[in-house]
Amino acid sequence: MDIPRIFNITESAHRIHNPFTPDKFATLGTALHLEPGARVLDLGSGSGEMLCTWARDHGIFGTGIDMSQLFSEQAKLRAEELGVAHQVKFIHDDAAGYVSDEKVDVAACIGATWIAGGVAGTIELLARSLRSGGIILIGEPYWRQLPSTEDIAKGCLANLISDFLVLPELISSFGALGYDVVEMVLANQDGWDRYEAAKWLTMRRWLDANPDDELANEVRAQLTSEPKRHAAYTREYLGWGVFALMPG
Ligand code: SAH
Repeated sequence: MDIPRIFNITESAHRIHNPFTPDKFATLGTALHLEPGARVLDLGSGSGEMLCTWARDHGIFGTGIDMSQLFSEQAKLRAEELGVAHQVKFIHDDAAGYVSDEKVDVAACIGATWIAGGVAGTIELLARSLRSGGIILIGEPYWRQLPSTEDIAKGCLANLISDFLVLPELISSFGALGYDVVEMVLANQDGWDRYEAAKWLTMRRWLDANPDDELANEVRAQLTSEPKRHAAYTREYLGWGVFALMPG
């Protein structure tokens, strides 16, 4: 079981697989007033940077589930590197339907809400692991500028304009699901560059080392087109943020 191999190639050198930079996760951790010993569940935990740094900086205990074997292994190495391997556990598995045995203080899905069929389904899934008074974290894109055509949405790698909302509407959608938005930290264009532009050097180096790989043509095509696509579309039109929610 794994995610499509192309992501394990293009994001192999990423510590954070979304437009957040380390300072944004630090800001979020501080903003949530995490107590030492707090339990955090993270569905789609990637390479584990959020849980590992919060374990180091705030003394939290975390469990992450991710379907990428590579990212899950990198998360375990990162935990050892930061000296928090006794505080965090990373499970290589499909997070669909995952509910923790013990209720958690924070239940998160940061940039992987397709795991439960979208934002509403993911909130519902996370709520099943949450203690009363706990916080749900959702990382999700929104339109910085509403695209005027469907082609622009496709340029942002969305299927449709309706895949995402503008920020005020995304915020009010949480209210419509019965949640208070109690905090938020938003990414910015520099963060998008760290997520997207960091793939380009990884792709180039991988191509140099793997010219005969079955994915070489696909990676070559992406390396050629992605910098301009990112500059024209994602960087201008897409926002991204993490929203902290409590049931109303
Ligand atoms: N939250 C992480 C990773 C976000 S990228 C971070 O902020 O860095 C999306 C992640 O979802 C990837 O790590 C991918 O491997 C994982 N993923 C995709 N489908 C999944 C599934 N069904 N179950 C668990 N993880 C999944």
